[in-house]
Amino acid sequence: MFDKILIANRGEIACRVIETARDMGVRTVAVYSDADANSKHVAMADEAVHIGGPAPADSYLKGDVIIRAAQDVKAEAIHPGYGFLSENPGFVDAVEAAGLSFIGPSADAIRKMGLKDAAKVLMEKAGVPVVPGYHGSNQDADFLTAEADKIGYPVLIKAVAGGGGKGMRLVEAADAFADALASAQGEATTAFGNPDVLIEKYIQQPRHIEVQVFGDGTQAVHLFERDCSLQRRHQKVIEEAPAPGMTAEMRAAMGEAGVRAAEAIGYKGAGTVEFIVDGSGGLRPDGFWFMEMNTRLQVEHPVTELITGVDLVEWQLRVAAGESLPKQQDELTITGHAFEARLYAEDVQKGFLPATGTLTHLAFADGCRADSGVRSGDTISPWYDPMISKVIVHGSTRAVALSKLCRALEQTEVAGTVTNLAFLGALAAHEGFGRGEVDTGLIARDLEVLTAIGDLDAVQWIAAAQSALNLSNPSEDSGFTLWAPLLRAVQLSHGEYILDIWVKVLGPHAQHWQLGDSSHEVRFDGTVWRLDGRVLPNVASAGNRLTVFGGASRIFDQIDPLDRAGSAGGDTNVIEAPMPGLVKAVFADAGAKVKEGDRLAILEAMKMEHSLLAARDGVVAEVLAAAGDQVEAGAALVRLEEAES
Ligand code: ADP
Ligand code: ADP
Ligand code: MG
Repeated sequence: MFDKILIANRGEIACRVIETARDMGVRTVAVYSDADANSKHVAMADEAVHIGGPAPADSYLKGDVIIRAAQDVKAEAIHPGYGFLSENPGFVDAVEAAGLSFIGPSADAIRKMGLKDAAKVLMEKAGVPVVPGYHGSNQDADFLTAEADKIGYPVLIKAVAGGGGKGMRLVEAADAFADALASAQGEATTAFGNPDVLIEKYIQQPRHIEVQVFGDGTQAVHLFERDCSLQRRHQKVIEEAPAPGMTAEMRAAMGEAGVRAAEAIGYKGAGTVEFIVDGSGGLRPDGFWFMEMNTRLQVEHPVTELITGVDLVEWQLRVAAGESLPKQQDELTITGHAFEARLYAEDVQKGFLPATGTLTHLAFADGCRADSGVRSGDTISPWYDPMISKVIVHGSTRAVALSKLCRALEQTEVAGTVTNLAFLGALAAHEGFGRGEVDTGLIARDLEVLTAIGDLDAVQWIAAAQSALNLSNPSEDSGFTLWAPLLRAVQLSHGEYILDIWVKVLGPHAQHWQLGDSSHEVRFDGTVWRLDGRVLPNVASAGNRLTVFGGASRIFDQIDPLDRAGSAGGDTNVIEAPMPGLVKAVFADAGAKVKEGDRLAILEAMKMEHSLLAARDGVVAEVLAAAGDQVEAGAALVRLEEAES
């Protein structure tokens, strides 16, 4: 086994690889850009090497700099993770030329699968069913139009160098073909520097089912399938293993096709053979076709790990170090069911726009596997993929695993950025998905329901207000006795909406809340606060911002009453109590001259002392309150003489 490896990646996959390497007694070296100097993967690694600026082109894509770093620290091998240099055959050649091992397939195998058209030709020869269509070299527009007619609409145009859904266009009818072709070619040129496309029959009610394969360079095994049909714009959102409705016969056929694909290119390491499946009439052994092979560890590999008990990164290291396949096909079995949901910093309401932010709070549910590259306090920067974590669960059956996923998502707590958490929760609770009726169109069909914002209700307001007033901890009995009779107030905003909230503390375990016109009583049951049996969600606060969790995170801001009094520009003659409270002191006497900003009284409210200041120069006309008075919000405390003018 290697003594020391370098991980040429960042984020969750770098952390994932480091974890297994550590368990195996292999020392790890991280690389990092300026943007990642304080990141989790750097903290986890035994050593770390700075490789350049924040843009990927200046750091994580700089193969030569990374190889030199590996040599400098005397690492023996490089793990590429996914993305970045993981499917770059030139990088593999350079790694090997430098006398290091690449933890992954050969450059030759990557090249053979690198372009979708060449890969399809190769797979056809190996007897693997491929999606019907045209994948030759003739790129003439008229010729391709004629091919599309032959295939029959709808067709899919794909960039041969494509990935991540780029350069792909669905064409429903002949009259839209020319425009779609031009735009696919344009996008492909920009993204991959290669305008070439292929054309495929668009499979109706498609399901994306892929096979995890693992080879030692000669022989390969498969670790069953994953269903990745829950996609938005051809990007995976929730993945699972095994595939719902899979039959033993079809599993054997797909697994065998995957192994054939891997062995045809002398595949070494972990790889994924992606198939498109016609789900319209149930799963049939003759209803799946090769789409592409990803010659790396896949984002969704954990679901396979949870159903097989195999650590795929461990296998990667062992095979790269020269060991033979750790298990034979007949030693591999499926236990239970697993799901993975991709948690992103993105603004679902703004068309899933990637978001950034500093995570003021980050916590995951017990009993789930959270593969994450960030910790509380870390920043999601604009430089990289905005993934926060993968939330992964395993259960004895699909139903058990799905209910665990729902719970894990409900208990995931992220503050400091918007996320797709509520969307993932809605998806996990989708009825059709629950029944295993998945296809790649599900999300688009039900997008409106899946992205609907639920109504805000009392539990969320009260949870936020409790936190703002420091009333969520029932053990603060000493405080309670001091201000027990006090009615306390807070003003919270949620978006445009502002609500005045009052609370009367009835005892250490009971509070009476007034939310605008409605009143509610909450009780502490020894573990949690409840409103009519419903648990008040957890809250994280940072400054004036309160993030209320519980599936769909809600953001509230506490409005500082003094800010408001100051900015309201109202009556400058009267100094009012901005909230209910106890008058601690009054510093004004009738007839006294005061200057703007002078402190006229102190009000104790919300466990704090608030100074009430003169809003202008003037003369005190009347003092209306004395120390020790309990006053309501809006009560006049001091009145100044009418200003002359
Ligand atoms: P998958 O099928 O595993 O999602 P894709 O082929 O869609 O893989 O994309 C490769 C994976 O690599 C993506 O999941 C993406 O998160 C990651 N990736 C792609 N480009 C980058 C990048 N520049 N930085 C970090 N990760 C990337
Ligand atoms: P990428 O390299 O971007 O991952 P793929 O070829 O793997 O591209 O396709 C991405 C997704 O597009 C698939 O997961 C599937 O949802 C959809 N797709 C691809 N080919 C077809 C097809 N022939 N018919 C229907 N859907 C398809
Ligand atoms: Mg793909």
